[in-house]
Amino acid sequence: MKKSVLFFFSTLLLMSSNPSKKKQVKKDKLPNIIHIFADDLGYGDLGCFGATDIKTPNIDRLAKEGMKFTSFYSASSVCSPSRAGLLTGRYPQRMGINQVFFPESFTGMPPEEITIAEMLKQQSYATGIVGKWHLGHREKFLPLQQGFDSYFGIPYSNDMESVVYMRNNEVEDFVVDQRYTTKRYTEEAIHFIDQNRERPFFLYLAHTMPHVPLYASEKFKGSSERGLYGDVIQELDWSVGKVLNKLEALGLLEDTLVIFSSDNGPWLVMEDHGGSAGPLREGKQYTFEGGIRAPTLAMWKGKIAPGTVTESLATQMDWFPTIASLAHTEIPKDRPIDGSDIAPVLLGTGERQGDSFLFFSGAELQGYRKGDWKVKNAYQGFDGNQWVKRVAPHDSLLVNLKKDLGEQNNLYRSQKEKALALFSEMRNELDKMGPLPLSQVVQGDDDTSHFMYLEQKN
Ligand code: MG
Repeated sequence: MKKSVLFFFSTLLLMSSNPSKKKQVKKDKLPNIIHIFADDLGYGDLGCFGATDIKTPNIDRLAKEGMKFTSFYSASSVCSPSRAGLLTGRYPQRMGINQVFFPESFTGMPPEEITIAEMLKQQSYATGIVGKWHLGHREKFLPLQQGFDSYFGIPYSNDMESVVYMRNNEVEDFVVDQRYTTKRYTEEAIHFIDQNRERPFFLYLAHTMPHVPLYASEKFKGSSERGLYGDVIQELDWSVGKVLNKLEALGLLEDTLVIFSSDNGPWLVMEDHGGSAGPLREGKQYTFEGGIRAPTLAMWKGKIAPGTVTESLATQMDWFPTIASLAHTEIPKDRPIDGSDIAPVLLGTGERQGDSFLFFSGAELQGYRKGDWKVKNAYQGFDGNQWVKRVAPHDSLLVNLKKDLGEQNNLYRSQKEKALALFSEMRNELDKMGPLPLSQVVQGDDDTSHFMYLEQKN
């Protein structure tokens, strides 16, 4: 009832505000959207981003026949906030998601947040998620309560206590053989595409790999020149090939925008089980480029010019307004949306509005990019532990990313005026966000939720 009212209202809005838009909706077929999200994949782990020891012909096809983004940022350098940013188009700090959820977290992304899936329901899209959710496991936080028609996958990271397969709101399987997770997700994704071939659909395929612990099926073990990590990526590449072949077989390539990206940088403390950030500094958990800049590709046959490379700054939060624009829906007016519509970039008709980005670590704003320049707060360093890599202390940082992609040449002392001006802009941007909520990520023993899945198993 509520959804049909919303749909009616939005249609009414379109009709009253812009009669030509209504015609367009009828004339153009609404595009399918597939967002393939790898977990902890590094900037240097794909053939089309320079890897030579991992072969990724299917993912490279997205670059060859579509667009490669060289300066594309995730909303965060860790899982949960990154995913919250992608799905809502908003900095996760606006909703207090400053760190990752655990099985003992009894909170999740606030249900009042509006996801891409909910937004697409205005146009009656079929909406499915396969894979990692990681935005809360209690029923009110699960995908079906955030606009998705269906869910299959592991709700958390695969190194956490409760690794189960969920189907919709229920645990389907308490025993997960992670060697077959990529294969299983791929089958589920193909099934979803098949089921919804006749109507516009949104598929969010959020792979569990290559997050540690790494697993590849027998067929891919030993297939790469970079050990198990490379094998895992080559299996993900196989999965992308399966999806593309399916679209091709159904004649849907021209109707589908296929996006490929990663939630954050490589988990370098895992050494050879973590990926590579290529030319970028550091990785996951840090606000250097290696933590947040994600290898990103977009292919849409007949719409995106083949073989395009864009250096234009863009972010995972941009997909929300971009998809809204492509699907002729409205974005919410009652809250700030931080992403910018990059449809003109994709279609080659214009540029993205805005060239700045805020680098948050937890609740702290640590860095700011404007154009080619980036500043970053001084850092006292971290000795490192089992989960987080050691990083040496550093001075306040000013780098020109165009000339110094690896953030090695600190110009803070020599161009202090420039640096201070950027730091001042950075503070203004934060002020503009207004008061931010306290952390929504609450860990601890709250009655029933703690290891609920394990309890059910016994
Ligand atoms: Mg991750």
